Amino acid sequence: MSTEEYFVKLEDKHPGMFVLSGDYVGMDYKIELQCKQHGPVTKLASTFISGPGCGKCAYNQKMEKASQLLKLLEQASKEGLC
Ligand SMILES: [Zn+2]
Repeated sequence: MSTEEYFVKLEDKHPGMFVLSGDYVGMDYKIELQCKQHGPVTKLASTFISGPGCGKCAYNQKMEKASQLLKLLEQASKEGLC
């Protein structure tokens, strides 16, 4: 697989999240990518494809979901549904 082919796979999994800053050597080798929000992230090439990509982005997404849930619960208790 070439660096371009790897990037296509990456875009498929994490659309618009990364800019490639290193060369793809193999799935078992580390590669450096730039998260558009958090900067450089270095991990095994396979980890980016199978995992959540940038750890900070994954954390933010979790926190966002949690805060949405909290808002819903707050609203429900205000309306006396809980
Ligand atoms: Zn990120």
